[in-house]
Amino acid sequence: MSATLLVVALVALGCGNGTGSDTQATSEGLAQVRSIGGQPAPSEPGGIFDVGQPTIGNLDPDLLEALESAARDAREDGVTLAVTSGWRSRAHQQQLYDDAVSTYGSEEEARRYVSTPDTSAHVTGDAVDIGPTEADDWLNRHGAAYGLCQMFANEIWHFELATSPGGECPEMLPDSSYR
Ligand SMILES: [Zn+2]
Repeated sequence: MSATLLVVALVALGCGNGTGSDTQATSEGLAQVRSIGGQPAPSEPGGIFDVGQPTIGNLDPDLLEALESAARDAREDGVTLAVTSGWRSRAHQQQLYDDAVSTYGSEEEARRYVSTPDTSAHVTGDAVDIGPTEADDWLNRHGAAYGLCQMFANEIWHFELATSPGGECPEMLPDSSYR
């Protein structure tokens, strides 16, 4: 298995690149996105993720391992999983949240789409956003085999390690404000 850079221009509302300016969102996206499978990355002939990137390297090791297993099997089905957003700094999450408050007009409404730094599983390295949509579909069907679960009904791209491999995922929350 090997890795390559892949730019996935996902408009992941509330979960993704809702930063203040387009320029910033784009450069951040480029730095963060890693695909799994595809062409070999020069730096890591046997690896799937470039853990040298903080967005990947700061993920919980068990989550990363589960993702690698899932990615290998997805690849067999011709589906490439890409991490569109992994670990985020508190400052980055705060910015996403502040932007959402501006967009949606209130903290109450914003929390349905973006968590605060205190509640976001991205900040602790316990969540990933996956794309493209066919990868989300694949992971929604097969993720539980690896312990990976969609957590929020309104975020098909957001996955966490929420059960044991082969276990049953917890019932989805309507949105992230219910956490
Ligand atoms: Zn997310």
